[in-house]
Order: sequence, then C-alpha cells, then structure tokens
Amino acid sequence: MRISELSNPYGATGARPTAGEIVDRTWRMLIGGAATEAASGDTMDVINPADETVVTRIPLGGAADIDAAVEAALTAAPGWAATSMADRARVLVALAEAIEAHGEELAWTDTIDNGSPIGVMQGDFRAAVSQLRYFAGLALQLRGETIPMSDHDALDYTLRDPFGVVGRIVPWNHPLLFAAARIAAPLLAGNTVVLKPAEATSLSALRLGELAAGLVPPGVLNIVPGIGPDAGERLVTHPDVPRIAFTGSSTTGRRVQARAASAAVKTVTLELGGKNPLIVFADADVHAAVDGAMAGMNFTWQGQSCGSTSRLLVHSSLYEDVVTEVGRRMDAMRLGDPADPATDIGPLVSAEHYRKVTSYIRAGLSDPALRLVAGGSALHRPGYYVRPTLFSAPAGPSGPLFQEEIFGPVLVAAPFESYDQAITEANALPYGLTASVWTTDLHTAMAAARDLRAGYVWVNASSAHFPGAAFGGVRNSGVGREEGMEELESYTQPKNVYVRF
Ligand code: NAD
Repeated sequence: MRISELSNPYGATGARPTAGEIVDRTWRMLIGGAATEAASGDTMDVINPADETVVTRIPLGGAADIDAAVEAALTAAPGWAATSMADRARVLVALAEAIEAHGEELAWTDTIDNGSPIGVMQGDFRAAVSQLRYFAGLALQLRGETIPMSDHDALDYTLRDPFGVVGRIVPWNHPLLFAAARIAAPLLAGNTVVLKPAEATSLSALRLGELAAGLVPPGVLNIVPGIGPDAGERLVTHPDVPRIAFTGSSTTGRRVQARAASAAVKTVTLELGGKNPLIVFADADVHAAVDGAMAGMNFTWQGQSCGSTSRLLVHSSLYEDVVTEVGRRMDAMRLGDPADPATDIGPLVSAEHYRKVTSYIRAGLSDPALRLVAGGSALHRPGYYVRPTLFSAPAGPSGPLFQEEIFGPVLVAAPFESYDQAITEANALPYGLTASVWTTDLHTAMAAARDLRAGYVWVNASSAHFPGAAFGGVRNSGVGREEGMEELESYTQPKNVYVRF
C-alpha cells in the first residue's frame, strides 16, 4: 500500500480556496508563534506556472529573520524537550487533523504554486497526514538501551537527547508534503524546528504555519521562506543550529555540508538527487515493465522527483518493443491545465527550471547518437509546459542526458546484452538513490538487489514509498534515511550513563 492510500478514511478534505483566500490577503511567516513580516519588509512574487501570472506576494525572509526564528526556537527548546512524548505525539496528530480538514485548500494552493495536477497534490496532503500520524505512532518506540555490565552493582544505559534547534530545508517538488512530513520526526524527538521552504513554492508552508500557530507552542515550529544562498545558508551556518536536514540537489547538498562544517561540527543529513536506473531483464513481464517504466518516471508530477527512474535499460531482445510502447504511452498523456482533473501532466515549476529541462531536450535533439521516440517539444502557450520526452540510444548510453539529473519529464533508454553489463551501467554514475528491476527470475532479482549501488531498490515495482520503509541515497544521492525509524533516531544524540550502585 502506498503512503497516499493510507489516510483520509472519512474523505474530509475542506474546500477549494477562493481566489481571495490566496490572492487578496497578506501572507506572513511564522516566528515565535507570531505571524511576521520580513525584517527588511521585502517580498517575493508567487508565480502560477500554469499561466505565468503573479498570484500573490509573500515575505522574503533573510538572515535577520532566520536569526529571529533560531532565537525563538532556542528559547522554546527546553520546554519542548521536557514535554512528554505523549503530548508531543498529540501535537503531531493535531497537525495531521488540521491538514486533513484543510486538505482540499492545501492541494489547490500547491497546484497553483507548483503546477502539479490537482489529483497529485491531493495525494500529497494525504501522504503528509499519513507521515505525521506514522511518526506520532512511533512515540513510544524511541528508546535507549541497557548494556549488561560485568560488575553486579552497576547499570549502563543510554538516553536519547534532542539536539535543540533543527534547521530543515526542503525543495519545491512536493511543497506541503515535505513541509509537513519532514518536521514530524524532529519535533517528536524533542527538537524545535526552523523550516525554510523552497523559494519557488512557499505558499502551502506558510498556510501550514497559520494552521500550526494554534496547535504548536510558540517557537517550537518556525517557518521562514527565503532564497537558498541567503536565508538557507544563514540557517546552515547559524551557531545555534547543530542539526541540519537538507533535501535538494546534490550540488547544493555538498555546499550545505561544506558551509555547515565551516561554522561548527554539525550533524547534517542530505536527501539529494539521482539518475536512477530501471532495468528490464529478458525474462521480465513486458506489460508490467512498461507500466513500471511509466510509473517510475513520476510523469504526473512532470518527472520532478528525486526517485524518478529516468534511465531505462532494457535487454536487447525486448528493447524495441518496450521503447516503442513506452513512447506511445508517453505521447498519449494529456498535458495541460493542472486544475483540470483530466490532466495527466502539468507545467514545470518555474521559468528557470523550464529553461534547464528544455536545454537538455535541445541537446538531445542535436545528438546524433540519440533518436527521439516521444515528445521533444514544449507547448506554445503561456506556462512552463514540456511534452513527456523519450530518447533512445540504440548504440548504448553516453552523454549528459544519460549522466545528469534533468528532474523533468525526460526519459532516456538504451539496450544491454548481459546481467553484468546492466549492473555495470546502472552503477556507473556517482549517484545512488533508487533503482528498479524487472524480472521473473528469483536469482536475477535477488542478485540485482544485492549488486545495485542504491539506497532503495524496487523489484517488479517502481516509484512507490511505504510507511516505515526508509528512503535515502548512497554516494552523491545523500546521507541518512527518512520516512522510517532511522529518521526519528537521527534527530537524537545518544548519551551513555554508567551508574554504580
Ligand atoms: P536546490 O538544491 O536548488 O534547493 C533545495 C532547497 O535548498 C531550497 O529550499 C533552496 O532554497 C535551498 N538552498 C539553495 N541553495 C542553498 C544554500 N546555498 N544553502 C542552503 N540552502 C540552499 O534543489 P531544488 O531544485 O529545489 O530541488 C530539486 C532537487 O532536489 C533535485 O536534485 C532532487 O533530486 C532533489 N530532491 C531530493 C529528494 C530526496 O528525498 N532525495 C526529494 C526531493 C527532491
């Protein structure tokens, strides 16, 4: 079962917001429990990627706002750490209920801000609710150890102390989901949090702040939108923030690690990008593998997913059939207005991202080693629309389209001849987030799961996340695991206590 299928059994979702609820109102960030303007008074535009219109303006937080948020979080930290686990869990459940009650509104807010179709964003608020409830349910599982001592009159045990203030930086592809779900574990573990949403999509995080203000004690959760190199970097280097959790690109993640280390010894976890392989072996169920290749690309959020399996490696005996069918399915997708429930694929998130993705498509079109199978163009209308695009490399994978994360609806395919060739190619990049394997042979499945260098492997499946199944990468795809017990424990520091009695 997917996370998104777990919650909302009652269908209570609130209502679609009116334009006035998003446009004709003042947006504030959350600092110390209060709705706050940026200290500078600066604001930034919120642009609807579906039509490039300016929807509204939100505060542009900077270093001074981060400092104020960290101070509020520091002040609130001792009281929150002393709050019982049961009461911290109650706060997470209250947040989950508030999100559920306003789910429809939050989903529409994300669609307007981010461009993913409304159905996808409805799935996101449900996944956020599930994650908050999942972590609330782990409250009594956060335990230390008792270590046997040779001395009969002694006891050795461990405590799990919170860090204090956690800096949480998230990207734009699942705005509400990341803002809500990724604060659950640090809060439950007894930390206070300063959350910096992505500059392209901060609206639903600000709305979450409004909902949280009445549920979370002042200063325990602070939400400051701002530009990465300014507000983000201040949070990373702030001397009173010992624990940083970052989700974003590998390039920024490496910078975050370096900047954090320049300020102090900090605990930094990184959920980064990938260029993930999907391998179809000769004995695979071809229909299921085609479904898996489509689902694995997460086209319904424009391929903008760290876990997207954007390198399709197919045994040569099935290659033409699989590539042709995947291309046909991609061409059949309905690209258009994300507010229309019939839309399969909406616009990319921003003009900047549109330029990046279309530059890769142009490079693909001019590469003689690549054959265009599907898509390859943009829609000529306002909005950042790119057709789902498939390139085939019949002579084997090479070039930037096979090596770099595009983070858009662009899939590249190449054939292979042997198991070793497939695994070598899959492991050839410095990333290691996800991988997907399609085979009906148990030995091939188990061997591939063992041999692939990735933090998360699906066999005869793709794309799905599951509650409690920890997600994260190896190599340049990250450090640490989220969505499971490891995430909760990662927001604590073990303290050993030896007692002679
Ligand atoms: P990004 O790295 O540009 O930005 C991510 C966040 O970091 C934003 O909030 C941004 O403001 C902030 N930031 C930017 N520069 C910063 C700096 N110098 N210091 C501190 N913070 C800074 O990434 P993006 O374009 O927003 O997101 C797409 C990337 O995120 C892709 O590479 C994708 O694979 C990755 N991602 C990974 C996961 C995962 O779980 N592994 C999930 C989603 C997205």
